[in-house]
Amino acid sequence: MKERIDIDVLICGAGAAGLTLAIELARRGVSFRIVDRLERPFGGSRGKGIQPRTQEIFEDLGIIDRVMAAGGTYPSMREYGADGSYVVKNMLEAQAPSPGVPYFIPLMIPQFLTEGIMRERLSELGHHVEFGCRLLDFEPGTNSVTARLVSAQGEEQIRAGYLIGADGGRSSIRSALGIDFPGKTLGVRAIVADVDLSGLDRDAWHQFNDGDMERMVAICSLAGTDLFQIQAPIAPDGDSDLSADALERMVAERTGRSDIKIHSVSWASAYAMNARLADQYRVGNVFLTGDAAHIHPPTGGQGLNTAVQDAYNLAWKLAAVLAGAPGDLLDTYGEERRPVAANVLGLSTSLLQGQRGPGGMRRGRDTHQLDIGYAGASLSQDATERTSGPRAGDRMPDAFLTGAAGQPRRLFDLLTGPHWTLLESASGYRPDTAARAGLRVVTVGEGAELSDPSNQLGLPAGGCLLIRPDGYVGATFSTVNTEAISRYLAKVLPTTTSEPARA
Ligand SMILES: Cc1cc2nc3c(=O)[nH]c(=O)nc-3n(C[C@H](O)[C@H](O)[C@H](O)COP(=O)(O)OP(=O)(O)OC[C@H]3O[C@@H](n4cnc5c(N)ncnc54)[C@H](O)[C@@H]3O)c2cc1C
Repeated sequence: MKERIDIDVLICGAGAAGLTLAIELARRGVSFRIVDRLERPFGGSRGKGIQPRTQEIFEDLGIIDRVMAAGGTYPSMREYGADGSYVVKNMLEAQAPSPGVPYFIPLMIPQFLTEGIMRERLSELGHHVEFGCRLLDFEPGTNSVTARLVSAQGEEQIRAGYLIGADGGRSSIRSALGIDFPGKTLGVRAIVADVDLSGLDRDAWHQFNDGDMERMVAICSLAGTDLFQIQAPIAPDGDSDLSADALERMVAERTGRSDIKIHSVSWASAYAMNARLADQYRVGNVFLTGDAAHIHPPTGGQGLNTAVQDAYNLAWKLAAVLAGAPGDLLDTYGEERRPVAANVLGLSTSLLQGQRGPGGMRRGRDTHQLDIGYAGASLSQDATERTSGPRAGDRMPDAFLTGAAGQPRRLFDLLTGPHWTLLESASGYRPDTAARAGLRVVTVGEGAELSDPSNQLGLPAGGCLLIRPDGYVGATFSTVNTEAISRYLAKVLPTTTSEPARA
């Protein structure tokens, strides 16, 4: 007998992971609630670097221009010597722009502004975060989860099809599920503080005593605000005074400068750096995402970005299964995302050990997250021998194409939205894929709806690329192999176009 369900999905936590999931579910018409125990939105800068791959995702979510306009580029770094002189360093490794990579440098925007824009997008889609609403506990059922919530209105019990633990590094959902969180404490404690400060230029990232873990301090103007962010390692034990006076004293001691004045502190935190990864991302109908599943040092600016991409991977699968796709599609979430987090842990820890500073000053291609992919995972199928061009599991690069009327078309414009896309070579046999819900079929070639004169897509004659809703190549096929295409689509596409089915 079917269990009575109040809501398809309950998202616990409205940080970057929870908000991404909410936007994705909202635009697919899934019924959900998103709750956060905070009385009001979080107000700190924390994850302030938006990596190029996340910028692409923000384009798909419809917020990239807002995020770009609200933030700014990273300033160059001034590395000060003991005598007060400095050298200017560019912390961004030069990347050449190309048609395949529309966003190629990290954007700086404080986390509270990013999350504010995401909430605005969620409102446009008809939903909002229920602040001041805490998950007390939950009981997993066979096909649902019963959750107890408390807010100013009192306690309530609801039954959700799925519960998503987007509840941060100290996730109570992870603990309640008994999921191990192995890893290590890295022996580094640091402060991060957003302050109103005078005495330093806003057009530089000021770095004093680089590499000296007792005296180092980095002070950076926060794009989109009048604030500066201070980052500094501190002693591993003891209380830390995060008042304006104490921070001003610490800055004076470490820089030898009495002209840097701190007038007020808008947010500050002292934290110990850890690198930990959850043993499992799923137990029954409960999933972990973002910091609930992995935590690591801020070096390289990976945390928020990995959280967004976890949720982006999970959301389309959840919506597809709710609409009738086979349930084991959901197992591919942990299969794909856990190895990514393991790599991120390694990268951020090695950057920290490389003494590049607690803020992760270095920004190179390895931190851009553009090369993350799912080759070898069960959803990635190469049915053709390919020697060039994208393969199953790769991120699909953008491309400048030409429409049938000769007008310019960008591939990413075609991919934007919750659908799958089949790019097929016009020279092959056209597979019978028409009228399949959730799939957009685009023929490419001379005289077809789109042409790709400089072969930016890497689409071989007689071949096709099947692109997932999250922008990765799901499979490559020969266009004549219509059976293989149909078999693949049956595993990932909803069975109906109507309102999502309940589990
Ligand atoms: C001090 C600090 C500095 C950082 N610096 C960087 C950086 O420079 N670059 C970077 O990329 N990342 C950085 N990060 C990491 C980044 O902030 C996180 O990776 C990101 O916030 C993860 O998003 P999330 O949505 O998974 O979790 P969170 O942002 O932690 O959101 C979890 C939410 O769940 C809510 N919640 C928890 N329990 C419950 C409950 N029982 N009921 C209801 N709601 C609940 C919380 O209130 C919170 O709002 C930093 C983190 C910290 C702490």
